Amino acid sequence: AKWVYSFGDGKAEGQSSMRNLLGGKGANLAEMSNLGLPVPPGFTITTEVCTWYYDNGRQYPQELKSEVQAALDAVGALTGRGFGDPKNPLLVSVRSGARASMPGMMDTVLNLGLNDVTVEALAEGAGDPRFAYDSYRRFITMYSNVVLDVEHHAFEEALEHYKETKGFNLDTELGAEDWKHMIGLYKKIVRDEHGSDFPQGAEDQLWGAIGAVFNSWMIPRAKKYRELNNIPESWGTAVNVQAMVFGNMGDTSATGVAFTRNPSTGERALYGEFLINAQGEDVVAGIRTPQDITEKARIEAKSEKPSMERAMPESYAELVRIYGLLETHYRDMQDMEFTIESGKLWMLQTRNGKRTAKAALRIAVDLAAEGLITEEEAIGRVEPAALDQLLHPTIDPKAERKVIASGLPASPGAATGEIVFNSEDAEAARKAERKCILVRIETSPEDIHGMHASEGILTTRGGMTSHAAVVARGMGKPCVSGCGTIRVDYKAGTLTVAGTTLKAGDKITIDGSTGQVLLGEVKMLEPSLSGEFATLMSWADKVRTMKVRTNADTPTDARAARNFGAEGIGLCRTEHMFFEGDRIVAVREMILADDVEGRRSALAKILPYQRQDFVELFTIMSGLPVTIRLLDPPLHEFLPHTDAEVQDVAKSTGVSEEKLRRRMTELHEFNPMLGFRGCRLAIAFPEIAEMQARAIFEAAVQAAKETDAPVTAEIMVPLVFTQMEFDIVKARIDAMAKAVTEETGATLSYQVGTMIELPRAALRAGDIARTAEFFSFGTNDLTQTALGISRDDAATFLGAYTQKGILTADPFISIDQEGVGELVRIGVERGRAVRPDIKLGICGEHGGDPASIGFCQEVGLDYVSCSPYRVPIARLAAAQAAL
Ligand code: PEP
Ligand code: MG
Repeated sequence: AKWVYSFGDGKAEGQSSMRNLLGGKGANLAEMSNLGLPVPPGFTITTEVCTWYYDNGRQYPQELKSEVQAALDAVGALTGRGFGDPKNPLLVSVRSGARASMPGMMDTVLNLGLNDVTVEALAEGAGDPRFAYDSYRRFITMYSNVVLDVEHHAFEEALEHYKETKGFNLDTELGAEDWKHMIGLYKKIVRDEHGSDFPQGAEDQLWGAIGAVFNSWMIPRAKKYRELNNIPESWGTAVNVQAMVFGNMGDTSATGVAFTRNPSTGERALYGEFLINAQGEDVVAGIRTPQDITEKARIEAKSEKPSMERAMPESYAELVRIYGLLETHYRDMQDMEFTIESGKLWMLQTRNGKRTAKAALRIAVDLAAEGLITEEEAIGRVEPAALDQLLHPTIDPKAERKVIASGLPASPGAATGEIVFNSEDAEAARKAERKCILVRIETSPEDIHGMHASEGILTTRGGMTSHAAVVARGMGKPCVSGCGTIRVDYKAGTLTVAGTTLKAGDKITIDGSTGQVLLGEVKMLEPSLSGEFATLMSWADKVRTMKVRTNADTPTDARAARNFGAEGIGLCRTEHMFFEGDRIVAVREMILADDVEGRRSALAKILPYQRQDFVELFTIMSGLPVTIRLLDPPLHEFLPHTDAEVQDVAKSTGVSEEKLRRRMTELHEFNPMLGFRGCRLAIAFPEIAEMQARAIFEAAVQAAKETDAPVTAEIMVPLVFTQMEFDIVKARIDAMAKAVTEETGATLSYQVGTMIELPRAALRAGDIARTAEFFSFGTNDLTQTALGISRDDAATFLGAYTQKGILTADPFISIDQEGVGELVRIGVERGRAVRPDIKLGICGEHGGDPASIGFCQEVGLDYVSCSPYRVPIARLAAAQAAL
């Protein structure tokens, strides 16, 4: 095998299509070299070396050493320097680079190759000893931290102490001699903490750094990141070794990051930050506040510091030229890192930039409008699940805002929660089902689990490209960063701002779209959707072949779903209506009744409520199909549970407490999910189904009259496992239809169908389809019954199952295609064989899960049905599935 791929001087052994082998960074460095862009020469050690390393007890393949040496020689030849050469040293950076980007998760070492001798040569060559010592002290701290495990703060404390004694405020005030002095101190710290001297040999340094990058693949934060982002461990990381270019060589040098479009809004404009006389880590770490790239951004931010456009016009022009080239080449928004060394611009990285859902939409639509991609490609550019971000609430503009501070609008959306100051507390709050805002001075990759557990993130330091901002945008969580007026005291567990002190547990609201921090809870507004959203959805609607309906039980749900483009109701769970308001009293009366007569009189009280519910649903859906399911859950759920409730119910129903308790005992079930539910209820107590059928038909007549739109009622029988159950219930429904037709003289258009949510029903779908006019796959129950895993109790052990790889995902979230999916397939085939025009849909939770929607397309369902907020997700996922 070939383990090392070189790049530089307008050519490369690799290219962008080789990202599996070279990692994202390595592949794109090669591609940029091939494009003739200014890239410092270097080489990539492949991800296969990483895999080999872990497969062989952390050893390297034998040929690696000589391949690295040859590649180093080539870099030396291109730069006119020698690695470890005391007179003319080649210095390099060593960076990780996995297939999928894992920002900040793994380690980087800069300025490698410096030692007590080469630092003097660097000083001489640059004519600037301060720059050389500054680079060397950076190298010692970084290398010691990453490779030798010496904690960063040991160095920081020594520096702070020195600055204090000298009366310095800023690092930039330290001169060559000061840094030289610090280097002495740093080397002593390394000796004390690490137990041996800082390595002087360039070769030793290099292999130490390469080993550290490979080792960092397995550190906890990297593992956690992979887990959250579904990145397989087997991918491994590549290592990129590249000739150093220096952004810290004085005022004609700089370093920065830029996006070709705004990653928050998608606006088409160069967007980013840079720092003069600095190295890359300074920008990311948020130690100094960076400057804007464009003059326009500077004016908008009201910044005093000059923009790159003004301060370095030639480098800016070069960056503009390159960004246009890269966008056209990659046909997507790029996230670039660059360094300017003494006026010359060098590209250190480019990749498809991470972006918010809002930006993803706008960029996809704009790129299509600009002709860079097709409409179909635009559809594929937006991740359906990410649309969730757009559907999140924002702060009501009319609400009173007690703004206590302002930071950067790092990730859009608003969130309220109690203050927590560390990730452990965030997780604890989440476990206790309390919403929290994670407040940190700055976040580091270790905070990833805490960010995940919180509703939003607030930091007091760091810019738009800081760790907190990048990660929050990726997660779709609101984030305000760099809120410098807030003082956080971790020890005391308080934050102080403008004379107010808040403690952990106090409520705050953050607005990630404006950067504001507000006191307490604030009224939120439902999201409104942008023009790009409508455009992309219209493109999606053109290509998708499955319909998208909604699961809605109330008029509010139904209206929200219509706004999101639902094409009907796929599931109305009528039992949810039974809990509304005071109708529960009549429901309880019905359950407690001793005989049919008693039940009928209670049902008569429920009928008008149900009818009115259905009239509203039919009206909102004006003409679109509405599937109403007969009552499903176990009756005991409607009964009281605590003593106080029992007394209450006894009073309101006029039944004695004693009788009530007896009835509760009678109705008690050991396994309610497999008990007296679904159509079993309609078979034992047909009057319940009759009342519901009457309510539906009368509502259909009324709604048709009032709205002038035809009503298509689909009545659905739950939990059947055999045709006979279905036929018995259907006969009651048909009889009721006939009765209502005779009473009203109206003609009714309706269908009767069934849920397929038991394995036996899927197997016997051929029989059931003889009389059932439609099937809706209830994959919640079908998953529960096929896997024998209770949908209510799975959480305790499912984690262990996904961790061990027994299940790749929670089967209640993403359909188990092999098992449950096979049952669906069988149901589809056998049902269609008997009734070719049978209407087939899905209404389990999987109807809103993009991967499951792909599966639904594959098996040929006519529609999916999902909760209202998932309708846009389903429309887009269905379009992607159809392409
Ligand atoms: C199902 O079982 O998938 C379904 C939609 O019904 P419910 O969730 O109400 O049991
Ligand atoms: Mg069900």
